[in-house]
Formats: sequence, C-alpha cells, structure tokens
Amino acid sequence: MSFLELDKQFVANTYARFPVEIVSGKGSLMYSPEGKEYIDMGSGIGVTAFGISDDEWVKAVTEQLGKVQHTSNLYYTEPCARLAQIICERTGMKKVFFGNSGAEANECAIKVARKYAADKKGADYSVIVTLKNSFHGRTLTTLAATGQDKFHELFTPLTPGFAYATANDLESVKEAVANNKVCAIMIECVQGEGGVIALDKDFILGVKEICEKEDILLVVDEVQTGNGRTGSLYAYMNYGIKPDVFTTAKGLGGGLPIGCCVMNEKTEGVLGFGDHGSTFGGNPVCAAGAVSVMQRLDEKFLEEVKAKSKFVFDELRGAKGVESVSGLGLMIGIKTVRPAKEIISECIENGVLCLSAKDKVRLLPALNIPMEVLAKAVKIIKDACAK
Ligand SMILES: *Cc1c(COP(=O)(O)O)cnc(C)c1O
Repeated sequence: MSFLELDKQFVANTYARFPVEIVSGKGSLMYSPEGKEYIDMGSGIGVTAFGISDDEWVKAVTEQLGKVQHTSNLYYTEPCARLAQIICERTGMKKVFFGNSGAEANECAIKVARKYAADKKGADYSVIVTLKNSFHGRTLTTLAATGQDKFHELFTPLTPGFAYATANDLESVKEAVANNKVCAIMIECVQGEGGVIALDKDFILGVKEICEKEDILLVVDEVQTGNGRTGSLYAYMNYGIKPDVFTTAKGLGGGLPIGCCVMNEKTEGVLGFGDHGSTFGGNPVCAAGAVSVMQRLDEKFLEEVKAKSKFVFDELRGAKGVESVSGLGLMIGIKTVRPAKEIISECIENGVLCLSAKDKVRLLPALNIPMEVLAKAVKIIKDACAK
C-alpha cells in the first residue's frame, strides 16, 4: 500500500488532504515519491519560515538534539531561556510562557486575562471580546473565542464568556464592552483563516484606546501574523500599538511545534507558581529551532520580505481573473474570478502548492523564498487565474 492509502485507512478523517505525497524538500521546493517537484507557497500553513530542511536551522536543531532533547519544566535549559530573552528584548515585553501550539498560546492568554481582571476587578469580569470572522484555535475554549458559528455548532457547550464584535466597526466593540463584564479584547491584526483581511489602522487604534480607558487587556493573536510574516517582526508593529499580551506559534519554530504567550509590564506578574504549565512547553529542541529563526529575522531580512510582498501584490493586482488581493507582507489572499478550489487544483498539477482561506487563494510562502522561485510560482498562479 502507498502511504496515501495507509493514511486514508488509518488516520482520522479530519483533513480533506490534497492528492499530494511529499517525501523530501529543500528550501521552497518539495518532492513527491516519483520526484515531481512542487514550489511550496504555503510553508505548511506559515510554519516553515525558512523553508524545508534549511541548513542553518537543521544545524541548530540537530546540535541541540545531540545534547538533550527534553528535560521537562522542572529544570532550566538554555534554548528556552535564550528564546524568551530574544522575544522580550525585540518587543519590549517582559515575560514569555511556552506551549506547543497556537491554540495553547491563546488558552494561556485567556487565563492571563481572566486572572488579571479577577485580581483587579472581580472574578465576574471574565468576558473576552473577539471579532466575528476571527480564528483562534480548535480547543473548546479557543473555538469559543473563534467568531465563526460554523466552528461552534458541533461541539456545544463551549467555554462560556465570549462576546463577538464586528471587525472594523468600533461601535460594535463599544457595545460589547458596555453589555458585558469584559477582561480583554482579542484580535488578529490580519485575519488569516477568515480570508487574509488586514484590519483598518483606525479600528485597531480605537480598540487600543478602549482597552486603556477601561483597563481591559489588549490581546493580539500573532499565531499566523508573527515572526516576520507581515514584513514586521510582529504584525501589531505595523499599527504602532503595543499589546498587553500577544501570542504566537506557527512560524516561530521554523517547523517544530512551539507556541508562546508573551506578557508586558502590566501582565507579567499575573501568573504565579502552579497557575499554568505544559510538559513539552519550551522544549529545548523546538526552542533551539526558534532561536535560529528569530536570530535571522533582522531589519535587512524583513526589508526583503517587504520587497517580495510588493512584487507579488504588483503582479497580481489587476491581473486577468483576479478580483482583488488582500493581506500584508507574505500573507496574501487572492479573490479570483473562478472558484479558488479550481485554481488551487490547477496549480498543483503545474507544480505549485497554494492554500485557501474562505473563498480565496492564500499564499504564505517561506520568508526566504528566492526571488526567481517566487516569480515562477506567481506566473503559474496568474496563468491559472487568467483561464
Ligand atoms: C493557526 C492559528 C491558530 C491555531 O494554531 P494551532 O497551532 O493550530 O493550535 C490560532 N490563531 C490563529 C490566528 C491562527 O492562524
């Protein structure tokens, strides 16, 4: 049996996988067992920030693997401490809690928000306002945070204590704050799964103002937008605001599972001994991969991300069969005239792997994708849209 058939028989049916088998890769290229080459424009949903089997990243990870692969959080290890230092020094935040995924990072942020308000205002200030069309994860609490009914229906009762406002509508946020005992407002600066939609600057500044006025925490979910994806180290930096808490995961480890919840001077002391934990959180191998990723995301590199982004936007905007292009940096949504599904299938046939988000084609290439590879992929995508 091929592993595609084995997978169909033995792996839970939760993913509508594309008929693509991958056995190896290098950088932004991936290969099937028969040697078919694909340009990877999805980077494992924004995870392999420096592509597949990047030499520098492999070296960092394997060196750590040869030293110690896990200790639990009962002891100190260097990669975890160094990673927290890098994240704090580059953002001005104060403390980091490590978990293993985006959803777990958001679970931590939700705990921080509830405990912050419980300590200051009372335990009844437990409601978190999130936005309609958001995505915050698949655990029962982060599903509740996710402002999309279709994710809620099958799994009720979800964790209570969430209220939903409309993105880019400040009045609806004010209303949600007035009608509930609110501890935090949680937003994605660019809604990823919701269709790669960058929020308006005025809206985000308005949300920040409400948070300050009411002593409500601003939590920014940077799980997809973080770690250089938008051309800034974190997406909130494009908007000139500072969150009280932010979360990130996906691209942080460069392909290994790691997520974190990052707290500022207001929230760093909220969690004390025993308030939260994770067996694998801050695992030295994952953290070593993340240190290697973070060290390479310098200003010069981020400028290159912005230049590549401009190239893609310039090529696609106004192209035949393209209705609109949205997003920020190398997080790009393409509204196509033909159904996105058809475009994605045709791109697969022609050796380009794209993602979708709602009714759009979504691109999240590796941040270091070589310009000539990017240009080749964009041409194939444009040709598919033009048909
Ligand atoms: C992917 C994603 C999550 C969930 O991350 P997992 O690692 O799958 O748990 C949460 N928030 C946002 C914005 C995401 O894009």
